[in-house]
Amino acid sequence: MTSIISKKLLGPVGFSNLPNQVHKKSLKKGFQFTLMVVGESGLGKSTLVNTLFNTTLYPSKENKEPTTEVPKTVEIQTISADIEENAVKLKLTVIDTPGFGDFVNNEESWRPIFENIEGRYDAYLEQENRVNRKRIVDTRVHACLYFIAPTVHSLKPLDIEFMKRLAHTVNLIPVIAKSDTLTDEEIKIFKNRILEDIAFYKIPIYQPPVHDNDDPETIQENKDIIAKIPFAIVGSDREVEFNGKKVRGRKYPWGVIDVDNEDHCDFVKLRQMLIRTHMEELKEYTNEVLYESFRTQKLAAGALEKTNDGQNPLTKFDEERLAHEQKMAKMQAEMKAVFQQKVAEKESKLKSSEDDLNDRHRIMKEELERKKAELEAKRLKLESGYATKPELILTFQSKLYSTSLFNVTL
Ligand code: GDP
Repeated sequence: MTSIISKKLLGPVGFSNLPNQVHKKSLKKGFQFTLMVVGESGLGKSTLVNTLFNTTLYPSKENKEPTTEVPKTVEIQTISADIEENAVKLKLTVIDTPGFGDFVNNEESWRPIFENIEGRYDAYLEQENRVNRKRIVDTRVHACLYFIAPTVHSLKPLDIEFMKRLAHTVNLIPVIAKSDTLTDEEIKIFKNRILEDIAFYKIPIYQPPVHDNDDPETIQENKDIIAKIPFAIVGSDREVEFNGKKVRGRKYPWGVIDVDNEDHCDFVKLRQMLIRTHMEELKEYTNEVLYESFRTQKLAAGALEKTNDGQNPLTKFDEERLAHEQKMAKMQAEMKAVFQQKVAEKESKLKSSEDDLNDRHRIMKEELERKKAELEAKRLKLESGYATKPELILTFQSKLYSTSLFNVTL
C-alpha cells in the first residue's frame, strides 16, 4: 500500500513554474477547436459564427435574395481559419450542415450528420491504432450548436429526433435562434417548454459541470451559464449606433439590440461558455467521455467479430437460425410423410381383413342356407313319404330337433 504524506519544502525548488511551462508550450503549439452548427436554413447560423469569433468566416447574406433551390441531401461543409488573439493562436473549424430540415420529409435529416461525427471518431481511432502515432490530427467535433426556430410553441418532432439521436455522440448545445423576434415573456415560456421536452425525452445536452470543490466564483459562474440554457441568441456581424456608440447589433424602429449586452440576449453567456471558460472542458469531455464510449463500443464489436471468423455476429446468428428452422421443417415433413404412409398401410390392412371377414361370413351363410335347404327338402320328403306311419314321423321329428344345425342363428 502506498501512503501519501504531506511535506513542506525548506526552500523553493521550482516546480511551481509547471503551469508556466504548460502555458508556454500551449502557446507555441496553438489551440484547435471544431464547432458544428445545425439548423434549418435562414436561422442565422453563419451570422452567429461570424459574431462569435468576430470575423467574417462566412460572407454576409444580409442583402442576398433568398434561394428557391431546394438541396437534395443534407450537405456537410467545413470552413477552417487560423485566428489569433493576444498572441494566442486558434485553429477554428466550423462545420455547417446546409439542407438540414429543408425537405418535405426530414425524417432522416439527422443521419448524415451523425455519420459525419462518427466518421471523425473513426478517423481518430484509426490514427491511434497506427504504429506511428506522432502526428494525430484531431478532426473530432467538440461542440454542436443546435438552432431552434423561434416559434414559442414546443420543440418540433425534427428537433426532438435530432437531439435524441445526437446528444449521446456530441456536446449538444441548444440555442433559440433570432430571439429578437420574441418578447421577454415569450422567451421565458419557450425556454421552459424546451427544457420540459429535454427532460421528458431524457436528452443529455451539454451543461458546464458544477463541482463542490471548485472555488465559489467558478461555481456561481457555471450556475449562471446553466440558468440561461437554452441560450436565446441574436447574431449580427454589423455595427449599429446605440447610445451614441457603435455596437454589434440589430436596429429596429422600436430600438436597438446590442448582441454584446447581457440584458438584451444570451449571446454573451454562450460565447463565455464556448470560448472563454469551457472550450478546453468541451474538448476534454469529447475525448474522455464521448469518444471513449464510441471507442469502447467499436473495439468490443471488433473483438466479437474476430471471435466469429471476421463475420458479423448478427449475420452469423441469423444464418444459424435460418439453417435450424430449415432443418426442423425438413424433419417435420419427413415425419408427416412416414405417419401418412403408416396410416395408409394400416387402413389397407384393415380393409383387406374386413373383406376377408365379409367373405367368410358370406361363405358360412351360404353354406348354412344350403344345409338348411337340404334338411328342409329332406323333412318334406320324409313327411310326405311316411305320412301314413305316425311312429316313423315321430322318430324323424325327434331326430331332426336333436340336430344342432337348427340352433344356429343365421
Ligand atoms: P443560415 O442560413 O442559418 O446560415 O442564416 P444566415 O446567418 O445566413 O442568416 C439568414 C438571415 O437572417 C440573414 O439576413 C441574417 O442577417 C438574418 N439573421 C441572422 N441572425 C439573426 C438574428 O439573430 N435575428 C434576426 N432578426 N435576423 C438574423
